[in-house]
Amino acid sequence: MLSVIIPAFNEEKCVKRAHDAIHALLVENNIEGEFIFVDDGSKDDTYKEIQELASTQGNIVGIHFSRNFGKESAISAGLAAVNGDCAVVIDCDLQHPPEKIIEMYRLWEQGYEIVEGIKRERGDEKKMHGLGAKIFYSAISRMAGFDMTNSSDFKLLDRKVVDVLNQMPERGFFRAISYWVGYNKITVEYDVAPRVDGETKWSTRGLVKYAMSNITSYSTAPMQTVTVLGFVMLTISVIFGIWALIDKIVGRALEGMTTVIIITIFIGSIIMISLGIIGYYIARIYEEIKGRPKYIISSTVKSEKK
Ligand code: UDP
Ligand code: MG
Repeated sequence: MLSVIIPAFNEEKCVKRAHDAIHALLVENNIEGEFIFVDDGSKDDTYKEIQELASTQGNIVGIHFSRNFGKESAISAGLAAVNGDCAVVIDCDLQHPPEKIIEMYRLWEQGYEIVEGIKRERGDEKKMHGLGAKIFYSAISRMAGFDMTNSSDFKLLDRKVVDVLNQMPERGFFRAISYWVGYNKITVEYDVAPRVDGETKWSTRGLVKYAMSNITSYSTAPMQTVTVLGFVMLTISVIFGIWALIDKIVGRALEGMTTVIIITIFIGSIIMISLGIIGYYIARIYEEIKGRPKYIISSTVKSEKK
């Protein structure tokens, strides 16, 4: 059985549409499936829609969060609820073409344990977001040591992989974690379709925050850069120090006021940046050490019918 995990945040208009589209495909291709809708604390009627689906259709599981915990948490909750032999994670807005699920499933049948969806086109994303995404993915790819450009959350995972992910206590970045675990992988390219309804749930600020927290969860390189910068600054200040001393000996002091100011500002800014970067890591450690759950489920629903 294939478990279809669908994170949904304020997607009342998309829930039924997504179900119907995917359900039809599965029936057509003779694949047994279950749907796991994770309502990430939506403010609209998303959960009501899911309950309604569960009362009329078979093989539906609905999970409702007590508040919005973010897509990563929604995916975690979905993975924890998987009953199938493999699971696919797909967006509710149908930007991930559902037909690809069949292609992914066939590859899984051939023995691949992770089938990755890779974006061919980034859809009608805002220009700024596209550029930001490019920088973010090239940074994270370089630091984490694997190519993640154009990767997405659209993936099909074997039961084994799902179990491994379920055992990981950390608040990982789903896309990166599924690279990290290894296994027999293959990629499938897809074109990002325009959103069917509603609007994107990401603000620019949200995306920047998301990028920062994922980079710091994936690599300590930024923190190491700080050390390197510190040494570079030390070398520069030694040179300037000697220079200032010579000036004093020759009797040309006072003149270097400008240099002093520039250096002070420069060092000050480097220190602030460094503290900021270290702060990110401390914040992450703090988050993890508190050991709070990744999400809180306030209610669940399951369809009676098979
Ligand atoms: N989503 C979620 N929690 C959030 C934000 C988004 O579960 O806090 C879901 C959303 O319902 C959708 C998917 O994640 O199914 C992708 O979100 P969206 O389409 O807004 O992102 P984009 O496609 O613009 O990257
Ligand atoms: Mg979308």
